[in-house]
Amino acid sequence: MASRILTPEARLENIKALALAAGITPEQAAERLDGRVLCTFDCGDAAACEFYQELRPVLARTIEVHNAPDGGSYLVEMVIGDVQPLGLAPAVFARLTPDGCCFASQPVAAHSASPAHRALSVVAACYGAGVAVYRAVGEGIPNPPPDHLEIRYDDILPDRGVLEEPVDLGVTHLAGAGAIGNGFLWAARHVELLGKLIVCDDDVVSSGNLQRQVWFDEDDTKDPKSPTLCQKAQPYIPGCELKPEPMRLQDLPSRSGAWLRRLIVAVDSRRARRELQAELPAEVIDASTTDIREVVVHYNDAFSGLACLGCLYKADEKEASQDQIIADHLGVSVDDVKASRISPAAAAAIVRKHPHIDPASIEGQAFDSLYKTLCATGKLHASVGKQVVAPFAFVSVLAGTLLLFEVVTRLARPELVKTNEWHVSPWREPFNRGRRTRLRFADCECCGDSVRARALRDLRAKLWAPKESDQISCTA
Ligand SMILES: [Zn+2]
Repeated sequence: MASRILTPEARLENIKALALAAGITPEQAAERLDGRVLCTFDCGDAAACEFYQELRPVLARTIEVHNAPDGGSYLVEMVIGDVQPLGLAPAVFARLTPDGCCFASQPVAAHSASPAHRALSVVAACYGAGVAVYRAVGEGIPNPPPDHLEIRYDDILPDRGVLEEPVDLGVTHLAGAGAIGNGFLWAARHVELLGKLIVCDDDVVSSGNLQRQVWFDEDDTKDPKSPTLCQKAQPYIPGCELKPEPMRLQDLPSRSGAWLRRLIVAVDSRRARRELQAELPAEVIDASTTDIREVVVHYNDAFSGLACLGCLYKADEKEASQDQIIADHLGVSVDDVKASRISPAAAAAIVRKHPHIDPASIEGQAFDSLYKTLCATGKLHASVGKQVVAPFAFVSVLAGTLLLFEVVTRLARPELVKTNEWHVSPWREPFNRGRRTRLRFADCECCGDSVRARALRDLRAKLWAPKESDQISCTA
């Protein structure tokens, strides 16, 4: 199984992420990531077994994982539940209860063999994978997990009852079938979604994507992401129709009037987020990752007057310098890069600078994706900007899972969510101060004070204003 996931390109993505995060050379990062993690647990312990079943597919996208020693050496032994360590490597004790999970160098926390809700086991697996990665290979990573990391599920999900009941999405669009979109549907295996989810993505699965896109394996490379993801996830999510659209949401043919009731955003660029906000959705639920450091969950609707995706992900200097770096390395103009997708003319320019590339194979691709692929395959020795370094799989799966929790909570318990932005470290316990209310940015290109932005904002509110026919008549 592991050989079908950790392809040379996927390994390189992990090496780049670790080298940058830990401040070491790619050679040092490669050497560290060559190690293995051992998991020790009792097969009769239901909580430990479910945790391992969720941990393995996520952690194995970063480093090799074994559940029995093979005589070789290990960097870390994760001891899950009330069992004795085998003593083959420094131990991390994972203790689980239905209310939370704890990872520590000493077995001090309580453990219960009664499993948590399976969707919460995904959360535990993500934090556990983070601790395992840090203890095994992460020396030098800033802001690392504490020696005793305890996650309380009440801090993750205000009412866990939403996981037990069916949640109807109506007709909802998901933009992005990459790492976070994968994570969203990965966690959704364990809740009951109803309705229809239209999954939009124009990209194909690359070998490097396997490093973090948890549904995909080597057989899927070069296949379109959206239909592949829908086909793989659908049997696990039987109550909700997954409809693939192998194009960007912004390119769907019928997009007029009040067509976009609810938009779940799982794309990987700031610019794409602003473009999606400009489609005037009634409601937006978004999750993003800042390389391996942070997950940000965001919500906006047509009426609150609070920040939108354009306010949160405004064009900044980092984006401008990243555009310049990509333009310089690919041999195109910054305006080309701003258009997001590679035109035939831009493809011709790229091939003049990189003759090994077949122009037909890159037309229509995202500039970001091509740049990442060229960096990952070593064909571009670039000064890699932080925005193009992929996170580890556990970060993306955690982002997708928190996105799912936000969606089901917004739909089933809207009164419980008081803030519109949540910053979570995948390495540390969630803090209350991570939840914020973000106000509108006056110069936002989607909802700000310029004539165009204000017109867009007013149009959005008008499109989604409750119609009189929707109001319940009380005349007897
Ligand atoms: Zn805005």
